[in-house]
Amino acid sequence: MREMLSFLRKHKDDEPVIIIDDISRLARDLDAHLKLRAAIGSVGARLESPSIEFGDDSDSQLIENMLASVSQHHRQKNAEQTQNRMRARLQAGYFCFWAPTGYKYVKSTSGGKVLEREEPAASLIQEALEGYASGRFQTQADMRRFLEPHPIFSRDKNGNIHPQRIKNMLSNKIYAGHYEYRPWGIPLTKGKFDPIISWATFEQNQNRLNSRTSAPQKTTSAEDFPLRGHIACGCCGHPMTGYWVKGRSKHYAYYECFQKTCPERRKSVRSADAEAHFLQYLNKLRMSCGPIAIAKLMFKELWDRRIHAHSAHQKSQKANLARINSDIRKATERLINTDSNATIKALEARLDKLEKEKALITEDLAKTKPKPKDFDQSFRTAMEFLANPRKLWETGRIDDRKALLNIVFEAPVPYIRNKGFRTAKTSSVFNILKDISSSDDEMAETMGFEPTRPFRAYSLSRGAPSTTRPRLHRRV
Ligand SMILES: [Zn+2]
Repeated sequence: MREMLSFLRKHKDDEPVIIIDDISRLARDLDAHLKLRAAIGSVGARLESPSIEFGDDSDSQLIENMLASVSQHHRQKNAEQTQNRMRARLQAGYFCFWAPTGYKYVKSTSGGKVLEREEPAASLIQEALEGYASGRFQTQADMRRFLEPHPIFSRDKNGNIHPQRIKNMLSNKIYAGHYEYRPWGIPLTKGKFDPIISWATFEQNQNRLNSRTSAPQKTTSAEDFPLRGHIACGCCGHPMTGYWVKGRSKHYAYYECFQKTCPERRKSVRSADAEAHFLQYLNKLRMSCGPIAIAKLMFKELWDRRIHAHSAHQKSQKANLARINSDIRKATERLINTDSNATIKALEARLDKLEKEKALITEDLAKTKPKPKDFDQSFRTAMEFLANPRKLWETGRIDDRKALLNIVFEAPVPYIRNKGFRTAKTSSVFNILKDISSSDDEMAETMGFEPTRPFRAYSLSRGAPSTTRPRLHRRV
C-alpha cells in the first residue's frame, strides 16, 4: 500500500487511476478504507471499480461507506469463525498453530491435521532436552553446541543458533505433549499427539532454568561421580565429596573427606583410583547361582509385593486425580462468578498449578503395571546381576550404577586411601542370599564371596594395617 502511494505521488502528473475488482480488496475495515481513500485523493489519483461507481456526491458516498462497512463485517465474521473453529480444535486436544521444529502436520484419518514427530529434528531435540534435564548438558550453551552442527535449526545473522531459541525450546510445553493459549481461555491441555519428552523432564528443565541465573564453571554431575553418596571416608565414616580440579589442560575428578576433625581431611583421592578399587571390591561380591530355588521363592514374594504396591499406588493416584479434577471444576466455577481482579488472578494461578499437577499424575498413571508373566525374565536378570554385580557397574550407565549401589549396599562403603574399600553393610536382600550361599559348604569353596570376617577397625594415624588380605572364606 505504501509503495502504491509513493508510486502515485511520483506519477502525479499522469492522473493515475487505481482499479480494484471489489471494495473488500482495498482496506481491512471502514476506518482504514476512509483513510486510504483520502490518501489516494490527496495525491490526485482516482479510484475505479467494475462493481461500484465512486463519486463525491452524498448518495455515492453513502453506498461506498455501506459497502466498505459490510465488507468489514464479512471479514470480522470470517475471522471469528476461523477462531471459533481453532478454539474448538484446541479444546479437543488438537494443536493448530504453527508446528514447532521437531513436529510436522500430517492428515489424520479422523479429519483435520495432527502433529507428528519430524525426524531427525525430533530425536535431536529429545536428546538435547533430556540431556539438559539429566545434567549431561550443564548449560544452555552446552545444549546449543550439541545442536549447532545440524543445519535443520534456524540461525541468526551470524550463523549461530540464537540463545533465545534454546531457552524457548526448554520452556515450550508442546515438546512435553501439552499446550495452552490464555488469550482464548485455553488452559493447559494434553494434546492428542506423541510428546517428545515426558512432563517430568519438562518440569525438571523448568526447575533448572529457574534455579540458576548464571552457569557455574564446572559442576559435578552424577555421571562424573557415580560413587558420590555411596563412598564414605574410611577414617571418620563421613560421606566423601566429589569435585573437579582444573589441571593445566583438563579437569580431574577427585573425592575427598571434608570433615574438619578428620586426619584424612585435605587428602584427595583420584576418582579413577576409587573406581578401580571399587571394581576390585565388586569382584569379591560375586556369588553362586546354586541356591536358586530358595532365591526364586523370595523374589516371587518381592515381585508380588511390587505388583501389589503398584496397584495401591495407582489407586491413590486415581484418587488424587479425582480430587484435582474436582478442585479444577470448583476453581473454574468461582472464576466465572467473580468480578474481583485479585480473586481472578489468584484463581488463575491456582488453576495453573492444578493443571500442572494433573499432567504429572496422568503421566504417572500411564505407567504400566509389572505383569506376572514378566517375572521369569526379571528373575533371570536379577540372578545374573546378583551372581556378578560387577556386570551392572560395567555397563557404564549411571542408572545401572546407582541401582547396583542402592540394591547391594545399605550404607556408604568406607574407603581407605591407597588401599581400597572396606567391607560394607550390604542390604537385607543381598544378605539373605549370602546366607543361603554360605550355608552350602561345598559351594562356598568355589564360588567366591564377600569376606565374612571384617577388617580390623583402625585409624590411619596409628599406621597402616597389614596389607595381607584376610582369607576370603571361613567355614561355618
Ligand atoms: Zn574423614
